[in-house]
Amino acid sequence: MSSQPTSLSSPFYKEPGPKLDAESPFESMMERFRFASDLLGLDEGMFKYLSSPVKQVIVSIPVIMDDGRIEVFEGYRVIHDDVLGPAKGGIRYAPDVNIDEVKALAAWMTWKCAVVNVPFGGGKGGVRCDPRKLSMGELERLTRRYTAALLDVFGPDQDIPAPDMNTNEQVMAWIMDTYSMHARKTVTAVVTGKPILLGGSKGRKEATGRGVVTTVLAAMGKMGLTANRSTTVVQGFGNVGSVSAVLMHELGSKVIGISDVSGAYFNEDGIDIPAALAYSRSHGNTLEGFTGGTPISNQELLELECDVLIPAAKEDQINKYNAPNIKARIIAEGANGPVTANADKILDDKGILIIPDILANAGGVTVSYFEWVQDRQGYFWTEERVNRRLNRMMRDAFNLIYGVKEEYGITLRQAAYVYAIKKVADTLKMRGIYA
Ligand code: NAD
Repeated sequence: MSSQPTSLSSPFYKEPGPKLDAESPFESMMERFRFASDLLGLDEGMFKYLSSPVKQVIVSIPVIMDDGRIEVFEGYRVIHDDVLGPAKGGIRYAPDVNIDEVKALAAWMTWKCAVVNVPFGGGKGGVRCDPRKLSMGELERLTRRYTAALLDVFGPDQDIPAPDMNTNEQVMAWIMDTYSMHARKTVTAVVTGKPILLGGSKGRKEATGRGVVTTVLAAMGKMGLTANRSTTVVQGFGNVGSVSAVLMHELGSKVIGISDVSGAYFNEDGIDIPAALAYSRSHGNTLEGFTGGTPISNQELLELECDVLIPAAKEDQINKYNAPNIKARIIAEGANGPVTANADKILDDKGILIIPDILANAGGVTVSYFEWVQDRQGYFWTEERVNRRLNRMMRDAFNLIYGVKEEYGITLRQAAYVYAIKKVADTLKMRGIYA
């Protein structure tokens, strides 16, 4: 197996994440965190506590490469907070991942888990490597050694990883197996996002898109809109985007624009989404050459007049430059950080309702929670039960955050941060600081 082409090579490979500049998702998150802390009147000590991760680990990962050389990689795992429960968060493999990025992403997970009321804290991990250049065997050895180095950190009651950029079901299976070998028993609940055969959950793959659509429906209800008289535009046609587009289409919304990295497509009569999905699947997961809509640019797509815009591709897509031209009534952030903090202000002035990422795309972590519950019970749910419970949790979370928005007279995003930070801070105050 060692010299096989890697399953993490293109097209699976994703370009490395955001940089720490003024318009970056991380800076945007910190700005939102500061705003919510001020509004809640958090004292300086609590602010400091919530800004500092409880654990940061950097490990060296020696790997014997296929040609016999020893290569050493750097791996990270950060637990931002675990007062609400074990830490939860993905592991990314990318050439430029670093401890600062992982720290920021771990904090993001703390707020996301708190918003949807799953009993988890926030964590994140990464290995600095270029997965395109690694064989399947090298990836497996890297993953197993990374896991072995973090055996004391991971655990179903401590810290539960999941897939993120350039890691997948297979990587989760290797982590689970390595951990289990050391525990001398099979411990499925140590990771989520596993193959169903190894204790994964039904409905996990579609969970994020399904959750996005649940929050869109809840928002439409508040705005007097109905799905079957609405228009939708979706940016990105991968896991989150395609599921969101399919579900909006099934609900009767006219999906007038879709896009992926190859370009964007517009059809004012509504795109035949099942046909687009079939096209993409049969052309190596690309919409390139799709004839069910007029080709337009990705910028034009974002600026289409529509009721619902779902950016589900990548960060920083709606920023201070194009925000003045956005004409949607609702923006549901399928991606993490697609709207910058500068754009927020412009969109808010235009009366656009933004369903923030830490709420809109939390369906994935919610079904990861269900996976963990099922693994621990040894009792597996039907897909129908998973979806029903997911819809309920997402709807409840939306209503809860909407209530906070109304109570404080703030945006939905600010409300999500206020709710999450208050929940973690209150829990911490009640538990007290062990001395
Ligand atoms: P994916 O790789 O399956 O799909 C990404 C899609 O975006 C692809 O269709 C790609 O062609 C498209 N894309 C990339 N660059 C683009 C560009 N410049 N313009 C237009 N389209 C572009 O990824 P995914 O799992 O669907 O994740 C998408 C986003 O959602 C990411 O921000 C991810 O962090 C976030 N997210 C995903 C999950 C999940 O469960 N998959 C959960 C929470 C958040």
